[in-house]
This record gives sequence, C-alpha cells and structure tokens, in this order.
Amino acid sequence: MSEALLDHLEVGVVLLDAQQRIQLWNTWLVRHAGIEESTARNALLSDVFPEVRDSRLQRAIDAALTQRMASLLSPGLNAPLLRLYQRPVDRRVDLRMRQLIHIVPLKGAEGCLIQITDVTASARREDQLRTQSTELRDRTYRDTLTGIGNRRKFDETINMEFRRALRGNTVLSLLMIDIDHFKAYNDSFGHPAGDVCLKMVAKALADGLRDSGDQIARYGGEEFAVVLPATDGAGACLVAERLRTQVEAALATDRHRPVTISVGVGTMHPGAGSTADSLISGADMALYQAKADGRNRVAYFNLDDGNLATLA
Ligand code: GH3
Ligand code: MG
Ligand code: MG
Repeated sequence: MSEALLDHLEVGVVLLDAQQRIQLWNTWLVRHAGIEESTARNALLSDVFPEVRDSRLQRAIDAALTQRMASLLSPGLNAPLLRLYQRPVDRRVDLRMRQLIHIVPLKGAEGCLIQITDVTASARREDQLRTQSTELRDRTYRDTLTGIGNRRKFDETINMEFRRALRGNTVLSLLMIDIDHFKAYNDSFGHPAGDVCLKMVAKALADGLRDSGDQIARYGGEEFAVVLPATDGAGACLVAERLRTQVEAALATDRHRPVTISVGVGTMHPGAGSTADSLISGADMALYQAKADGRNRVAYFNLDDGNLATLA
C-alpha cells in the first residue's frame, strides 16, 4: 500500500506494532498534532501523547493487541482524548478537536491500526442542541412575569413529592400563599403597578426560602405555592411565618401602600387513597381560615388528625 495515499486521507492514521511503537503517522496527524513524522516514528504512542497513559484509549489498544478486539471511542462529554487541534495554533483544551477513534487489530500481523476522525462540527452542533433543549424546557416551567416556577412546574413537583412521600412514608407539607386585598390594589393603582407588586412579592418569597429542596411556584393570579418535602407541620409553620414577615418587611415601603400575604399550611403523611389534591385542598382550607381570621397571618391544617388552627 502506498503511504502517499494515506497522506491524502482526511483521517488520522497511526499504525502501532506489538510493542506499541509508532510505525506509521500520516500527514493528517502532522497537521493536527503538530508533531513531525520523523519524531513520531518508532516512538511509543504514550511518549508522543502522554495523555494516553491510563486512558480508555490505552485500554482499547491493549485489548486490540492482546485479545484482538476492535473498539470505537466516541467523543463523550469529557475533554477530548488526544491533543489534536483543527489548527495547531489553537493549543487550548477547549479548542481541542472532538474525536471519533477506531482501534482495529491488524489481520495476519501483530499490531493495531488507530483511525481518528474529526467530528468537532457535529459534536458542537449536538452541544448546541442540548443547551437549546435545556433552555426551552426551563422556559416551559418558568412563570414569565415573576421568573419563578409556573403552574405546570408546581403540578409536577407536588405530584412527584407526593409519590415520594408515599413510598418513603414521610411527611409532606404545602404552603398556599395569597396576597391580601390585591383586587383593591389593582383597582386603585392599575394593573401594571399590580404586576410590579407581584414580582416583588415573588422575589421576597424566593429570597426567604433557603432550603434547596423547598420549591416555590406561582399557582395562579396572585397566589403562590411552596412544596416542603419531609417537613412536618411545625417546621412548615416556621417557614410560613418567616415568609409572611419577609414579605411584610419587603413591601412595607411599597410606593403605593404596604402589602401583606396570608398563608395556609397543609401537612400530611400521604396514605393509600389520598392524593396530592387532598393536600392542596387542606392548605386551601387553612388559607381561607387565615383570611377569615383577619389576613396577614398563617393558619394550619393537619390532614392526619383534622386539626385546624390559626397562628397567633
Ligand atoms: P383577599 O385578601 O381575600 O385575597 O382579596 P383579594 O382582593 O386579593 O382577592 P381576589 O381573589 O378577589 O382578587 C385577586 C385579584 O388579583 C384579582 C386581580 O385583580 C389580581 N390579579 C390576579 N392575577 C393578576 C396578575 O397577573 N396581575 C395583576 N396585576 N393582578 C392580578
Ligand atoms: Mg386569590
Ligand atoms: Mg388575594
């Protein structure tokens, strides 16, 4: 076979003998590794590319030489294997060529053939698509006005946490939050001012949640919901009271008038026959109680024992 032919390939070709010494190094490799053929010839592959030691490429080469097994290494999410660059001046890890590497044992002779294909363009396109689809999914779960989770997000979260609590026999709590006298606020100061107020309340609520497992969403209109996994009634009331005071403080100096919220806490150990809707109804009932008892307060409903109370 003519070596000149190999030099016209748009593929890197390395031939290793049984001792893993380089017997063939085509022009593609000179171009993309920046290493001359005279330097590479008879050198160990791991001397030319030290990154090969202990790598999956090294294991594939060993398998080809000892078990006559072929391998295909696709460009994973890790940094590309070999120090190859589309342009040799770009010697930076993030600019490394994305590589598809074939390792094939030689037929009728000892040694193996390594073929490297540049798949940078398609790998970058894949990265881009992956990022775009993640962004798109994030957007479908976000409320456009306030930036927190939307109703779809809440529905998924509450159902997932309900099933998890049922499986693990753990307690689950839910806060239903409603802005007090918000219709009057809108009527007096206009819808755009109401929207600004909604954003500020959402921010105060989100800022008041420290635990990463607690999830807030806009339930609808001027109502918000917070799912509190593995949190009992007492713990949920503490969070509710903290959020209530946080909003009260943050919106005490609202440019139109002070704004407050009422919070209904529902808590239960999910059992057979109960659904996430039972918990939502329970929290709603507590919210209604908080409103009836004068607003700007927290009320609590324990679905396990039927206890309904408003916090002092
Ligand atoms: P309560 O203390 O009993 O909760 O009284 P309320 O006036 O807040 O209750 P109600 O449910 O009667 O009014 C909710 C109001 O919230 C109706 C509407 O004017 C306002 N609202 C709902 N969604 C939005 C929104 O996206 N933007 C704005 N600006 N206002 C909204
Ligand atoms: Mg309401
Ligand atoms: Mg309201």
